[in-house]
Amino acid sequence: MHVALPRKWRPRIFDDLVGQETVGRTLSNAIGEGRVASAYLLTGPRGVGKTSTARILARALNCEKGPTVHPCDECASCREILARGESLDVHEIDGASNRKIENARELIETVRYAPQRDRYRIAIIDEVHMLTAEAFNALLKTLEEPPPHARFILASTELHKIPSTIVSRCQRFGFRALTAAEIAEQLRKIAGEEKIRVTPGALAMLATAAEGSLRDGLSLLDQAATLSGGTVNEAECAEILALVDRDLLEGVFSAAASGDRGAAVATLGKLLDAGEDPRRVLKEFLSLLRRLLMLAAGARTDVPESDQKRLSALSRAMPYENLLRAVSLALESDALSRRADDGGLIVQMLVLKLAELPRLKSIEEALSGGAASPAPQAAPPRSEAQGGRFLSLVSVEPERAGPAAPPSPAGDAISRFHDLLDARRRVTGAQASLAETIQAEGDELVLRFGIDKASAKEALEEPAVRKLLTEVAREAFGRPLRIVLKTGPPADGDLGQAAREVPREAISRERASNRAEIDPVVRSAMELFRAELTEVKEEE
Ligand SMILES: [Zn+2]
Repeated sequence: MHVALPRKWRPRIFDDLVGQETVGRTLSNAIGEGRVASAYLLTGPRGVGKTSTARILARALNCEKGPTVHPCDECASCREILARGESLDVHEIDGASNRKIENARELIETVRYAPQRDRYRIAIIDEVHMLTAEAFNALLKTLEEPPPHARFILASTELHKIPSTIVSRCQRFGFRALTAAEIAEQLRKIAGEEKIRVTPGALAMLATAAEGSLRDGLSLLDQAATLSGGTVNEAECAEILALVDRDLLEGVFSAAASGDRGAAVATLGKLLDAGEDPRRVLKEFLSLLRRLLMLAAGARTDVPESDQKRLSALSRAMPYENLLRAVSLALESDALSRRADDGGLIVQMLVLKLAELPRLKSIEEALSGGAASPAPQAAPPRSEAQGGRFLSLVSVEPERAGPAAPPSPAGDAISRFHDLLDARRRVTGAQASLAETIQAEGDELVLRFGIDKASAKEALEEPAVRKLLTEVAREAFGRPLRIVLKTGPPADGDLGQAAREVPREAISRERASNRAEIDPVVRSAMELFRAELTEVKEEE
């Protein structure tokens, strides 16, 4: 099995930390002298070793032979943390992932109880600045009077977003971005160990593209080595980096489609920071949106076969009406960028506008004084279709609500599955996240998609993607699992019941698109206004 290089070369002891010698030395000295703080705060840019340090620290504190600078790697605690980043008494939460954030408060409460087996009960909270106000309060309360066995290891890329009351109660360690030369040198060493041949020019390209993050550098080296088969040279690196740009651009779209402003702007920032001309980024983004719109419309497109499935899945990430609106906003921005000085600002504004689309309330709702029910069923007069019609159809994303699921080992593994997948290939991660349910059943990992998400399922069926899913599942669950992709209602469920549970909108969309495939008139009309047709169908 191929283990991704960033994981394989994850630092295992403080001395392994590259570029963070001061942090490593200070922590080693403190532990060597038996000075253990109740909370540590690790801050600095992404991909420079914060999470690795948190896990090394957790092993150092909880090793059967510890606290020690040299954890034994053999006791139950060491082995569990090495294998999964967690153990019976070490719990890890990634605040940047929505899947786990709602569990943060519960975890903080849990840490107050005595450990079950090891010396300390440790909470590792990554991207701690993402915590909710309630979770910060619970954390502060615990830090004010820390139980003797409780330890917190907090990590964040954004120190300024953490309340100062929390910061002041932690022992703080600043991590720094690595220079391109340091990354190139580390990549050269690891390539040597891995018997990957790579030209000095290619190393320099990869190191520069990594932008201070050793993890990103290793991940790029991994991709380049897989692509090349022989020696990694400059041409192959250019190809990999172009693919990265494509993935980033699609990542900007995914984030905007899900209404995640922060992620959308951060991903865009990576493209712009890499020195891309904002106007070119805007042009390419516009062309991506156009392709997605045409795919969603069921129109004939110039999308190459190899991209068809991936882009089809992506086009479903945004309701059709919003896609239309996105293209017209992008056209406006494109025109504006020709006259404006700051192309970067214009493309940022565009992305932020798109990220608002999921939050737009329907005009009907606003006019009726914020009624909770969705737009009325009756089809409005056709004449309204010309102006602003699709704005009124923009769906309202329900706010995240409902009781938080209790943390469970299975849930953690599934979250880890999502995280690892996102890290390996963002687009595949986005497609997998469209699954309605993901469950480990025996030796199978079953991803079940709604009937309206069939194209995401198809995209995941591609052999290379399936292989990636299998690898990631094995890593996340710690055992081999066969990937099973399904659509439709649960196999063991009542079909009638399941059909009633399929959203009405999904069924009519499905009907409309089935019809469109056989009826050329409907098909071309649909390119203009799909929603209109959906309603026409419902009247039959
Ligand atoms: Zn140990």
